[in-house]
Amino acid sequence: MSKLLVIGCGGVASVAIHKCCENSGVFSELCIASRTQSKCDALKEKLEKTTSVKLTTAQVDADNVQQLVDLIGHYQPAAVLNVALPYQDLTIMEACLRTHTDYIDTANYEPENTDDPAWRKVYEKRCREKGFTAYFDYSWQWAYREKYEKAGITALLGSGFDPGVTSVFTAYAKKHYFDEIHYIDILDCNGGDHGYPFATNFNPEINLREVSANGSYWENGHWVETEPMAIKREYDFDGVGKKDMYLLHHEEIESLAASFPEAKRIRFFMTFGQSYLTHMKCLENVGMLSTTPVEFEGRPIVPIQFLKALLPDPATLGPRTKGKTNIGCIFTGVKDGKEKSIYIYNICDHEACYREVGSQAISYTTGVPAMIGAALVISGVWNKKGVFTTEQFDPDPFMDALNRFGLPWVVDENPRLVD
Ligand code: NDP
Repeated sequence: MSKLLVIGCGGVASVAIHKCCENSGVFSELCIASRTQSKCDALKEKLEKTTSVKLTTAQVDADNVQQLVDLIGHYQPAAVLNVALPYQDLTIMEACLRTHTDYIDTANYEPENTDDPAWRKVYEKRCREKGFTAYFDYSWQWAYREKYEKAGITALLGSGFDPGVTSVFTAYAKKHYFDEIHYIDILDCNGGDHGYPFATNFNPEINLREVSANGSYWENGHWVETEPMAIKREYDFDGVGKKDMYLLHHEEIESLAASFPEAKRIRFFMTFGQSYLTHMKCLENVGMLSTTPVEFEGRPIVPIQFLKALLPDPATLGPRTKGKTNIGCIFTGVKDGKEKSIYIYNICDHEACYREVGSQAISYTTGVPAMIGAALVISGVWNKKGVFTTEQFDPDPFMDALNRFGLPWVVDENPRLVD
């Protein structure tokens, strides 16, 4: 029975907190802390009638290490679940290190200001050395490995769906189905329709940065980078039907390539409709996706942040979204000398998620594994000391918990492959 401090109170946090409240066998108390405390108070008021978990709230600026250290020192949680934005990963990790508190997040570090010269110098060196240009990578958080190990604490990175569940699926496939995995294709299909001409399913700034960047994949020990959306395939998804999907750079490719060095190729595909891509291209062409501030009527504004203010808040998409998601991985490898392929995936229904927790399936499929990761760390089931991604632990308890907490999965032993 343990206390958890949750930082952030957006779409993903709301689901994770709902699910922590369902799991009172592990969590006895939760503090919901975010930049805007009124959102935390509203969620607390909604949930406290339904759960025996004791809820409190706090205001915190998670960009400020000292404020975080003070809050952790005051609340004394067993772990901190970071479901704010990737911009806050390093400050929250630093505060956890200083207070010797376990740390869990759902997305790897990315800087808010990509024009910062100190960050750019490191970034440009990494682009040259590693060969991919995404703004996010694991190096900043992996730099904490030794410090966390010495402090005797755990950081679990990327415990959402992708990354998170996709990496657990990989560990599960290796443990139960393969001697070696040679090819991994991660397929993220959202067949949901919210009825707006254009909206993003999670934080618009993070989402649009990811989708408008170059694609890349891992092949024979190195990165192959492509123009944005240059590789397109069609796939017939169980529960959804035929969709176009595009190859993207995605963060779990980096950790899976390190954890499964025998993998010859690792790719990530996400489905997009033509309308989404046309809107995004147009916004990009006029400069609205830029993170560089521009002067407008005497004050600086960041175009992508202004765009975020105009777009529907992802948290409001829940009541409007119909359809299903299908996210999973196709593995090809060898077992007992024979080549084989399997596909492990989850289908999640937007409307069922909304009925259950008041959120659409994208927040749901991220919030549930965030809770599961926190529960496994806090209860000591996953207890290695240092900084880890989800494929580095025993996948079985995580897979069991997915079935129990709303994300059941299936294994197809005769899947159609992606060429
Ligand atoms: P939202 O924008 O809905 O929520 C972010 C929350 O963080 C808001 O409550 C916001 O506060 C709070 N916040 C932002 N900055 C600060 C700060 N400086 N101090 C304190 N709180 C802050 O985002 P989502 O819920 O959609 O996404 C949450 C995380 O989940 C992101 O890191 C995202 O990348 C990740 N994600 C991971 C996925 C996966 O599968 N692994 C998939 C989808 C998302 P305020 O209310 O004041 O704005």
